This record gives sequence, structure tokens and C-alpha cells, in this order.
Amino acid sequence: MTLHVVQLSGGIGSWAAAQRVVAEHGTRDLVLLFADTLVEDEDLYRFLDDAAEQIGVTVTRVADGRTPFEVFRQRRFLGNSRLAPCSDFLKQRPCRSWLEAHADPADTVLHIGIDWFEERRVPAIVRGWAPWTVAFPMCDPPYLTKEQMLDAARTAGLRPPRLYALGFAHNNCGSLCVRGGQKHWAHVLDVFPERYAQSEREERELRTELGDVAILRDRTGGHSRPLTLTDFRERQESQEGQNRRRNHDH
Ligand code: SF4
Repeated sequence: MTLHVVQLSGGIGSWAAAQRVVAEHGTRDLVLLFADTLVEDEDLYRFLDDAAEQIGVTVTRVADGRTPFEVFRQRRFLGNSRLAPCSDFLKQRPCRSWLEAHADPADTVLHIGIDWFEERRVPAIVRGWAPWTVAFPMCDPPYLTKEQMLDAARTAGLRPPRLYALGFAHNNCGSLCVRGGQKHWAHVLDVFPERYAQSEREERELRTELGDVAILRDRTGGHSRPLTLTDFRERQESQEGQNRRRNHDH
């Protein structure tokens, strides 16, 4: 029997992909493979447990053992929106090691939960996972929006991961994704100031080793330069202060 491995990220897209795989192939030869970055939101684990119970298959967890910042320190490179080595070291490689040990490429399909509107990523992902066969259940019709997938989870009796209700587009790395831009980090500062502070500290420490690097970039005035989380926070706070004064004056 063909082994069906769903790369379960904790996001709603990979849960929806798992639903399609179960509907088509059942659960007998199903593996729910989760790569833990060790900085996930606590509610992600709650959702994975609930989803595993709903599907009837326990989650297979793999972990590199490092956090994203530990990878950055060891690789001497701070991840950002253009290049994020954390994803490779903390997600792809541990999953690949698991596949090498447990899944015959000739008789395994790896299912990835990317959305139909991310379909342009398909060829690179297929190349990256060779020699395993890769399928993208959510790139097939009916095409679902994120809201429809969240609704489907509610209909299945599940409480969706809380990061979505808190206004985040993805449920990964506890909201602290280095691929996010200024708008994303402004939202982190708003919703999780203590998590923002932790990333700010880690970025500051890394800068003492690597020099002028930052997750964000400042593109004002036609120049692109590193924008530290500290500078960005101070900018946001002074902006907020100005807004408050303006509202008060009115
Ligand atoms: S979610 Fe973002 S920070 Fe986390 S591993 Fe992926 S790219 Fe890195």
C-alpha cells in the first residue's frame, strides 16, 4: 500500500490537505508529519492534538532541536524576508531525515498543504523533495479560501488555532516569522509585546556577533538598509504617541 505522508504544519492549510487525503485514501497508511521549531504558539500543539484525535492518527513529531535564532547564530546569518535558512534546517531537513528512514520513495506520496494561490511555488517544491512524489491537495478544486478552511475545521468540531483570530495570516513560529515584513512585526508588537521583546533581544545579541544585520529593512528615501526591531519599535511607539495626542486634541 502506498504510504501517504501529510506534512502537517499546524496551519489550517495543511489540516485541510489532511482532510482531503483522508477522504481519498483513508487513514490506514497515513502519517501526519510535524516538524517542531520549538518556538510554536502553545495553541498550535493544542490544535494538533485535537486534529490528530479528529483524524484518528497520532502526530509524528520531528525536531532539529534548535530554534530559528539558534540556527541564525550557528549559520552566522540572520533570516529575513528574502532568505530564511531556519525553514530548511528546522522543517525540510528533519522531515527529509524521517522520510529517508521510513518512506520508500517508490511507494510514498508526500502531501503539502500550500494554497492554490501559491501554486507558483509548486515546481521548486517538487524539485526539492525528489525522489519522493509530492502532491498538493489544496491546489485542486474546489478552491478554498482560508476562511472556508477555518469554517470547515469548526464544522468538524475543532477550534482553529488562535493566531488566525488574533489577525495573523499563518500559524507558525509563534507569530515570529522572519519572513514577515514591517506590517507583520507591527502586529506582533501589538498582540505579543513580550514575544517581540524576546526577538528584539535575540536580534540585538546577534548583531554583536554579525554586525549591521536586521530582520527588517528600511526603504525610506530610496535606500534599503537594515532596520532593527529596536528602531522599528521606537518608531511605532512614537507614531502611536503622535496619534494619541492628535486624537486627544480633537
Ligand atoms: S515560519 Fe518563518 S521563522 Fe519559522 S522556520 Fe519558517 S521561515 Fe523561519
